[in-house]
Amino acid sequence: NDNVIDIPSLQWYPGHMRKAERLVKENLKLVDVVVELLDARIPMSSANPVLREIVGDKPRVIVLNKADLADEAATRAWVKYFAAGGISAVPVDAVKGRGVKELVQAIAKCAKPKTDKLVQHGAKARAARCMILGIPNVGKSSLINRLSGGAKTKVENRPGVTRAKQWIRLGAQLELLDMPGILWPKFEDRQAALHLAFTGAINDNVYDVASVVLLLLDTLRTKYPVYLKDRYRLEGEVPSGVELLEEIGRKRGCLRAGGRVDDEKAQQIVLTDFRCGRLGCVTLDALPSKDSAEDTR
Ligand code: GDP
Repeated sequence: NDNVIDIPSLQWYPGHMRKAERLVKENLKLVDVVVELLDARIPMSSANPVLREIVGDKPRVIVLNKADLADEAATRAWVKYFAAGGISAVPVDAVKGRGVKELVQAIAKCAKPKTDKLVQHGAKARAARCMILGIPNVGKSSLINRLSGGAKTKVENRPGVTRAKQWIRLGAQLELLDMPGILWPKFEDRQAALHLAFTGAINDNVYDVASVVLLLLDTLRTKYPVYLKDRYRLEGEVPSGVELLEEIGRKRGCLRAGGRVDDEKAQQIVLTDFRCGRLGCVTLDALPSKDSAEDTR
């Protein structure tokens, strides 16, 4: 099981990481607040491992995106967890727009001390500026699209800003950089890498799909057996391992000539059902224990 995910074949090599980090740092200078997108199903696994080093003490708001796919009670617990560390986290569905209004309010609130201070020091009042940051596929573009929302919200190009960066106005007090910062996920942490594979955050061709699906089924069987029973109409106790996969294959009619289960087809069904939320609303990352809370933010 240890080699399920082939880390060296991932697209992020050290050179890419340094470049990503440099780009984010360049843009960071332009903003007052960073909006960190996490996947609500895996708030820890979808975090960048060195984000705090990169953003320093820049004020930060967390978006628990894809909240429509996550376990609501778990999302509430994660919001509380971040609040205990002094960070507002807002559950959002960037596709449907749920939570977006609350997010704009949270960003404005987070930016206020900074903009108030500027004014106190004699500067002209200006809108607070923010940028969106997150790993690939977490929903950065979807959120930017949602926030710009078709309305004429573009701000004129600002002199001195390289490559004529575009800003999107969010209400009267806020402007968002129309260019997300992309960071790499926690490939090195095996559990995180698995959760990223389950949710589709990393490309399916860099890991062994058969093993990953068995591990996903095992996780679901432990944490959400009822979802498996309901979705695939399983009777009695939910079997484990390949037996479970084959049972799902039979229920869904994934059969080869001669009546044998087509494992590959069954694997794809499980992955797609899980990722689209058809199995139910699932959160995979448990809250960290109290002792390690400081390390994970
Ligand atoms: P980016 O790489 O961070 O810019 O991610 P995208 O915005 O391209 O989103 C990646 C995928 O996730 C797309 O298929 C989106 O439709 C989907 N997605 C983004 N946000 C949400 C969300 O809140 N809920 C759901 N269900 N899907 C989302």
